[in-house]
Amino acid sequence: MTPEANLAYAAELIRNGKLVAFPTETVYGLGANALDADAVARIFDVKGRPRTSPLIVHVDSVEMAQTLADEWPDTAELLARIYWPGPLTLVVAKHPGIPDIVTAGLPTVGLRMPAHTMALELIREAGVPIAAPSANRFTELSPTSPAHIPDSLADFTLDGGPATVGIESTVLSLVGQPTLLRPGVIPVDELESLIGPIRQCVATPGEPHPSPGMAERHYRPRTPLYLGEFPGEGKGVYLRIGHEMPEEPRAYAAALYETLHHLDTQDLDWIAVEIPPDTPEWAGVLDRLRRAAE
Ligand code: AMP
Ligand code: MG
Repeated sequence: MTPEANLAYAAELIRNGKLVAFPTETVYGLGANALDADAVARIFDVKGRPRTSPLIVHVDSVEMAQTLADEWPDTAELLARIYWPGPLTLVVAKHPGIPDIVTAGLPTVGLRMPAHTMALELIREAGVPIAAPSANRFTELSPTSPAHIPDSLADFTLDGGPATVGIESTVLSLVGQPTLLRPGVIPVDELESLIGPIRQCVATPGEPHPSPGMAERHYRPRTPLYLGEFPGEGKGVYLRIGHEMPEEPRAYAAALYETLHHLDTQDLDWIAVEIPPDTPEWAGVLDRLRRAAE
């Protein structure tokens, strides 16, 4: 099929309640019509994802986002106009038209306009917003190319090449005081210079999470990964910043999952990773490594 035929086919599948794996600039998503509760339920089932973890709804425009929000604060308008399309998810009050299963029963919804032409064309052709988590099984590594996507998750996969950002979006709640729910490649101090102070939301081990989707175990390769320490025995590799891995945080993020997917095929006993600096630029990468580590 030609790329255009693939897109038209994928859009038809979305309209018919099927699941389509599609490229975004962050990672590959597993998408369904966000307004179809049964289709969205299948996403949770095939991924083995707990229904307490809300999905991000992908839109093709700021206007579509506004129709899905019960309230669209000035801060959302400002940030969407600056960062969309791009790796920033905005959590706002949800419109009653969005089925509860999408948002795990929360009164809020996470919205994002992805910066990949294929993703935007898919949403446009389908004519509906697309709910999509990453196209992997729960707790496993996110896919940054179609080859990483497990068979049997999607009814169809659109190939848009390797993801350029490489880690999941920054998630920012604009309900009440702005709160960072998940760091990504956009440094939080940059967001603060636009909208003022942002609370950092960190889950305390053993206590209820302030937001869903903050599972400690997440983004895991099959090979045990150690952060900043060497297991010593067995066969492994040590990933140093500026040597095996890029020196610059954005380039590092772009390479991270691809590297881990590759090392997972190498029959290693361990992967050790140099701890990145604790700075806003590295926050997204550091967060993923902490959750991936033993
Ligand atoms: P994933 O699909 O696994 O990349 O995760 C989506 C992330 O978005 C989760 O970690 C949630 O924390 C966050 N998220 C999505 N929707 C909401 C929402 N309505 N309220 C709070 N967090 C959300
Ligand atoms: Mg995921």
